[in-house]
Amino acid sequence: MTIYNLGSINADHFYAVPHLPGPGETLAAMSLSTGLGGKGANQSVAAAKAGADVVHVGAVGPDGAWALDRLAQYGVGTSHIAQIDIATGHANICIDPAGENQIILYTGANRALPEVQLAILDSAGPGDWLMLQNETNLQVQAAERARAKGAKVAYSAAPFDVEAVTAVLRHTDLLLLNAVEARQLAHALGVAVSDLPVPQVVVTKGADGAEWHDLQTGETITIPAHSVAPVDTTGAGDTFAGYLVAGLSQGMEPESALRFASAAAALKVTRAGTADAIPLRTEVDAFLS
Ligand code: ADP
Repeated sequence: MTIYNLGSINADHFYAVPHLPGPGETLAAMSLSTGLGGKGANQSVAAAKAGADVVHVGAVGPDGAWALDRLAQYGVGTSHIAQIDIATGHANICIDPAGENQIILYTGANRALPEVQLAILDSAGPGDWLMLQNETNLQVQAAERARAKGAKVAYSAAPFDVEAVTAVLRHTDLLLLNAVEARQLAHALGVAVSDLPVPQVVVTKGADGAEWHDLQTGETITIPAHSVAPVDTTGAGDTFAGYLVAGLSQGMEPESALRFASAAAALKVTRAGTADAIPLRTEVDAFLS
């Protein structure tokens, strides 16, 4: 079974600065480190590390070859990522000695994917999944195309945007929300999470674990988080999403897939970084045994 992921690919540039820059100020950074980021890329890496066959659909610019190499190193299929004439999405993140940050995000190529790139979704079939988040264009078109072939759609409604969520929701089989997004969505639509117009909803609640709501049967599965000492919670939700859908695509029942995802996300929060810090399946299996 294949997981197609229409997702963002970013270069995250972390600049250590003596203080956050003010208007008109030129400031020398003390150091720079660059990593692969973007919710889409993180979820693809997580699903591939979980052992799934992952085809990433997205776009990078003329400066994006390194990102394709990094994704490929992690086992993500990159042959349906377009190289277009708009800069690769990136985040410039200034961090001061107290850990306070200031971020400039440029969505770039991520929101300029040509629709012709979705043609690969016509190869999807029953048992396959399409993953979506809110950092690209073409989510509705992709969902319609994949569902027409019998694939299921897992949608992380993040970053939260009420218009985007409303449009994609009716094409979604499995909606993934963190606790903040769940509150925002329930408030925006004026309904409880348990009344959202989707078949299944997973709400992750950080150190308080996760809940799976089957809105067709009314059944709820609750999974506690593992007790770990968090070092960096960036990418916890993306690790959870990638592992969860990988588990489901490999035939796991929801409860087993949730346990798999929860263990992977717990290991992730004990490590600094995003894509590089997502654990391998062997590590997750060892953690669970
Ligand atoms: P997001 O990163 O999208 O905000 P959450 O914070 O809800 O998402 O985290 C996603 C999942 O990661 C949680 O359901 C949990 O399994 C795991 N997780 C997050 N923070 C912790 C933590 N401090 N300890 C253990 N597991 C955690």
